[in-house]
Amino acid sequence: MIIILKADTNVQGPEYEKINTYLKQFPDINVKLVELQGETRTVREVHLIGPTHNVPEEVLTSMTGVERVIRISSKYRQIGRYDLRLVPVGFTYQGIKFNQETLHIFPGPCAVDTLEHAEETFKFLQGLGIVTTRMGAYKPRTSPYDFQGHGANCLPWVFDLAGKYGIKIIAMEVLREQHIDEIKEALEAAGNPTGVMLQIGTRNAQNFELLKAVGSQNELPVLYKRGMGLTLEESLNACEYIASGGNRQIVFCLRGVKSQLGAPHRNIVDFIHVPVVQRLTRLPVCIDPSHSVGSKEHGPDGLFDIFNAAAQGVISGANMILVECHPEPETALCDGPQSLTFPELEQFINDVSIVREAYEKRVNVYSQGMFKKMTKT
Ligand code: PEP
Ligand code: MN
Repeated sequence: MIIILKADTNVQGPEYEKINTYLKQFPDINVKLVELQGETRTVREVHLIGPTHNVPEEVLTSMTGVERVIRISSKYRQIGRYDLRLVPVGFTYQGIKFNQETLHIFPGPCAVDTLEHAEETFKFLQGLGIVTTRMGAYKPRTSPYDFQGHGANCLPWVFDLAGKYGIKIIAMEVLREQHIDEIKEALEAAGNPTGVMLQIGTRNAQNFELLKAVGSQNELPVLYKRGMGLTLEESLNACEYIASGGNRQIVFCLRGVKSQLGAPHRNIVDFIHVPVVQRLTRLPVCIDPSHSVGSKEHGPDGLFDIFNAAAQGVISGANMILVECHPEPETALCDGPQSLTFPELEQFINDVSIVREAYEKRVNVYSQGMFKKMTKT
């Protein structure tokens, strides 16, 4: 059960005290005050965990400090939305806002390979006015003989260079708890010139210990990638581990799901799930067209499958895009064949803005009631 407090309810005041005193009658229930930074105000919610079936909703609803009471049935109670009237609170990291309305593109190489390539990438992104990127230092590879990433060794120069070119956030995968500490230590040693969004890759989507580790810290936000062989429900439950540890700065990422039926693409594109995740949870939703498609094939019209896949997500309201690019894809140590060149990246960004505009027009038409009217007749 969630009790949403009114905007002016003081949690140090008598109204909140009254709610708390009332809840003491239910000793098996754990009461937790959760504060979420919404668009226009801080949303305060009281989460009741335990056997809440005996707690009368009406009594709580009638209390002065209470705006609304919501009974939750879902398993993913922290990230879940339950009710479309619940605000889909996002978060702000490094001055950049993430929620279900914003859209940010994170282009970058699959893995950090050379200092020169990293610098070229940052410089190119700066020229485009982009301050967010992706870049793996720890790489989970299918074969133990493939490049595993430079690990902690590259972090000092990657962070320094990122700062030099105004990059504010790097999405970077972690494979175990130690990597989180290594990233934090390197950021601090470099004087925090940039920020990191910790990425949980699809192969670790149910690595519950790792999920608890990224969830039990609040300094760095988390990009959780859907498990390639998991149902959406299973992935949402796994993602809940992050929030239940206390970290609410989470973006949920769709990256396609594994099936031979997706061939010749690497995975089946699941971006129709963007609005599904937005209504089931309060999280911003990212799409990763590079790992969904896995190649740079294009249609007879010249549009890359990667562009078309991204368009499916963006036309449905995606909030973030991870896309692989490289200054020289043919020399990349990881995922070169699916990496866009810089001129292709510029076309991609242009394409995304065309589709985003179309999405915004669609929402606008809807909010003026035209679709509602259409569905009635
Ligand atoms: C990645 O984004 O670098 C990656 C390995 O993706 P995924 O975990 O989705 O395969
Ligand atoms: Mn990759």
